[in-house]
Amino acid sequence: MGKIYLIDVTNRDGVQTARLGLSKLAKTMINIYLNEMGVYQSEFGFPTTKHESNYLQANLRLAEMGILQPIRLGGWIRASAEDVERAYSLVPGIKSLSLSISTSSQMINGKFQGKKNEEDILAMMAEAVDAARSHGAENIGVNAEDASRTDTDFLLRFASVAKEHGAARLRYCDTLGYDNPFTIHKMGKVLAREIGIPIEVHCHGDLGMAVANSVAGAMGVIDGGQDAYINTTVNGIGERAGNADLVAVVLALKKSKGLAGKYRFGTPIRLSKAWKICKYASYAFDVPIPINQPGVGANVFAHASGIHADGVLKDPQNYELYDFKELGRGEPEMVETGREICSGEYSGISGFRHIMGKIAISFETRAEAERVLELARHANVLAQKPLVADELQFIAQYPDIAKELLTLTPLA
Ligand SMILES: [Zn+2]
Repeated sequence: MGKIYLIDVTNRDGVQTARLGLSKLAKTMINIYLNEMGVYQSEFGFPTTKHESNYLQANLRLAEMGILQPIRLGGWIRASAEDVERAYSLVPGIKSLSLSISTSSQMINGKFQGKKNEEDILAMMAEAVDAARSHGAENIGVNAEDASRTDTDFLLRFASVAKEHGAARLRYCDTLGYDNPFTIHKMGKVLAREIGIPIEVHCHGDLGMAVANSVAGAMGVIDGGQDAYINTTVNGIGERAGNADLVAVVLALKKSKGLAGKYRFGTPIRLSKAWKICKYASYAFDVPIPINQPGVGANVFAHASGIHADGVLKDPQNYELYDFKELGRGEPEMVETGREICSGEYSGISGFRHIMGKIAISFETRAEAERVLELARHANVLAQKPLVADELQFIAQYPDIAKELLTLTPLA
């Protein structure tokens, strides 16, 4: 039976969301936390976008150093040979790519305005896959944008051309959140069975079904005899109404009726890291976790009404499907209520040494402390909020990598 793999797209779909964004250091921390959680791949950014280059290269170096291992780091670009060339000129070492192009007649006509037809779409995609392979890409996913509104026969042709040219997977994008669990299950099964390659499902929440659709789509793919890949984002942050929430997808697969124990993840998922990554993403995006968010919301293990409180005190399983400890919750959190020294873009050496001392980092020499302080200041310029302990620790531990990913050179 096929397995389920997670490809998290927080660092691509999440950061391209209106009003939201992450610093390059925050994107790096997300990659590190996703790796700790056991996620198969992070779609870590945009290789054709110049301000991403240093961040992407630095993260590929972290992978080479074994720090971002075994997670794969995948870039997202348009499916055109020109974009592939630009991606490899800016980020030569990239191995995993998602190549995206619209496949629905709504988008082909609506976006290209009569300048391209279905045959042109097939040709562009094939040329892009060939170009990526010629540059040594090993893990190519071809994305059918707006797949859920695409004519099935054309989608099947598109997928088989992608396979012929060496794509590892097809990404079925429910770009507008138009599917429901029944329709996406059917399409997942048809694509897996007819094309015979693993299928990714990429779901949005415009109709409130992103998680349900992701799970149902993956079940369809497995029923069709292939491995299924689910696209998630941390806290469901993504375009418009958001993407399938990472933790909710994992909980649904591990805990829901008839699914618990039935489907297996291709990489071991450590749910105990959920609390840490969700809290961090909330801080980094400046978006609070909703009180009722599955797994990590403040109310998910809170009981007030008499019957529920009595029931959960007698046996938590009366009113809870899973335990807070499974998600890494339960540790008391220290919140400073008095004097506090924070990191900032104008920090000085004395305050900085105090902050680092509190997280048990000391420096051999003043020069070393000053170098790390300078990097932390630059990180603060990009983040515009105090750095968290893990970020400071990262900068102190990998100053060369930090320097690379913090470097933006718009005038070069
Ligand atoms: Zn999307």
